[in-house]
Amino acid sequence: METVKVTLPDGSSRDVTKGSTVLDLARSIGPRLAQAAVVGSIDGELVEVGRPIERAAAVRILTNKDSETLEVLRHSTAHLCACAVQELFPETKLGIGPPTEDGFFYDFERPTKFTPDDLPKIEEKMREIAQRDLPYDRVLFPKADVLKKFAADGEHMKCELVEDKGGATVQCYTIGPAANPIWLDFCRGPHVPSSGRLTAFKLLSIAGAYWKGSEKNQQLQRIYGTAFFSPKDLEDYLQRLEDARRRDHRRVGKDLELFTVNEAVGAGLPLWLPHGATIRRILEDYIVERERELGYQHVYSPDLAKVELYKRSGHWEHYHEDMFPAMQLENEQMVLRPMNCPHHILIYESKKHSYRDLPVRIAELGTMYRYERSGVLSGLSRVRCMTLNDAHIFCRPDQIKEEFTNVMRLVERSYRDLGITKYSYRLSLRDKANKEKYVDNDEMWEHGSQVLREAMDSLNLPYVEAPGEAAFYGPKLDIQLADVMGHEETYSTIQVDFHLPSQFGLEYVGADGKEHQPVMIHRGVISTMERMTSYLIELYGGAFPVWLAPVQAVVLPISDKHTEYARKVTAELRAGKLRVDIDERNEKVNAKIREHQLQKVPYMLVVGDREAQNGTVSVRHRKHGDQGSKPLAEFTAFLQDLDHRRVTTE
Ligand SMILES: [Zn+2]
Ligand SMILES: [Zn+2]
Repeated sequence: METVKVTLPDGSSRDVTKGSTVLDLARSIGPRLAQAAVVGSIDGELVEVGRPIERAAAVRILTNKDSETLEVLRHSTAHLCACAVQELFPETKLGIGPPTEDGFFYDFERPTKFTPDDLPKIEEKMREIAQRDLPYDRVLFPKADVLKKFAADGEHMKCELVEDKGGATVQCYTIGPAANPIWLDFCRGPHVPSSGRLTAFKLLSIAGAYWKGSEKNQQLQRIYGTAFFSPKDLEDYLQRLEDARRRDHRRVGKDLELFTVNEAVGAGLPLWLPHGATIRRILEDYIVERERELGYQHVYSPDLAKVELYKRSGHWEHYHEDMFPAMQLENEQMVLRPMNCPHHILIYESKKHSYRDLPVRIAELGTMYRYERSGVLSGLSRVRCMTLNDAHIFCRPDQIKEEFTNVMRLVERSYRDLGITKYSYRLSLRDKANKEKYVDNDEMWEHGSQVLREAMDSLNLPYVEAPGEAAFYGPKLDIQLADVMGHEETYSTIQVDFHLPSQFGLEYVGADGKEHQPVMIHRGVISTMERMTSYLIELYGGAFPVWLAPVQAVVLPISDKHTEYARKVTAELRAGKLRVDIDERNEKVNAKIREHQLQKVPYMLVVGDREAQNGTVSVRHRKHGDQGSKPLAEFTAFLQDLDHRRVTTE
């Protein structure tokens, strides 16, 4: 028999019969490994364990201990889901079913809508098929045969995919033995060896989706689910999901009356209600104060400008798709600004600068507009109108590193004060192949990323590099915050830009008396007010620390008799610059406590005869309950201290 040599991960090698499978190899190593094997890898390509080894190769056998296998498990569960759906609803046609960051989905075309009640039924059917432990076999067909089969089944989307992607020979995977499968899908693979491996899965939701992601195509129904190797991992995930739902800023924002979205205004254009507006104003005051300490100069500039300005800056060429369309006014075209940079450049340009003036740090809580597609809009986190904690630092090349370091320090200080602890750094670079999206100037990109790398290295901060995430005009350092589910998004960003200064011909007079070009640093420290507020809502689940709470304490008179004293208490606390409400409604005090507890007000101050007589308040904390009675002056000083020190723990 012909043999081929396989090399194992430990460096050892052995001869195996040509055409024997990865699973055969696993068996020869040990029965436990064979049982645990999820997929194999032949020269780095992931394959199902049934794949024959036809040539000398490096072979790995992967189990649930290997990170690559979770995706395989989830994608295999997507197949199981689709198989169950077609058994229950035979009229359903198949789209695609890839794994996602947290699980999987499968897209279906069906004349009737799935309802949430269908999910447990589908899940039940999935369990039934899983328990039959049916193999996921790989089958190769001539293209014409597979097209014929899918066409006969009315699977027009599968036909389209086979036409697009299939070669002369088309690879499909079954559920059930290859000779007599119960289900078949056109797929790249690999999958788990058999359905019996799928023991911990859950269908989560139904959403709309477009075929191939384009609004021009037909609408499909997407079923989301997740899967894990162990029921315990699934349970943990569902717990976190529940926690995330409880903290969801859209839900908390409604319950605590922080913001609202009204169709009459439009999607992605939230209205800030008084309590949400208070949080925003606290954030704005906070960051402006920090920036003033660091020598920033704050300006105001209009939310729109002539299209020509954005043609000059390059936004029109590279960022057009994310901008609102231009408005024709008499003889000129105006457009809502997608970024504040050009306005700040014109402010820098408005006077002559010498090398001694630099750095010039121009800051603004700048409102800007981006045409986010309606499908992605969400609460405060994805909006069409946003106000950024923006600044542009114009400096000499020799000042970049110090300015960069100072911005990083400000970011870390702000995060500490806001109680944000989970973040990481990402160096966002251009995608070299995408000439349309990025300014074409190799030298500039190299130089920019080098400067950022050096600055990060000298700060000893770890970062990952992400091609394709840069701004169109240069690389940037992004600070990524993780949400409850561990998903990361960019909140703070620092960008070193050589492009716009040259585009606008910016200058300063150097020590040599000659004109030089300044470098521009774009930076956003606490993101847009919308996104940071949404993040903080979820971070605290609405139970804001005293310094961020829209209402820091509420005064609750026990009865009408105590209203006068309650008003006095309220006035005194307010005079101490504290945010205090009074609840004079004719309700039982316990009912009021319950309600303000739900509103997550940090402190409730109950006042009755005894308190009025002694000049005290009975203090109740939203989490720790009764704190006993305190002289009013003492409580005022206590609350002011929490506020001033920006304490974020309860
Ligand atoms: Zn597949
Ligand atoms: Zn900018």
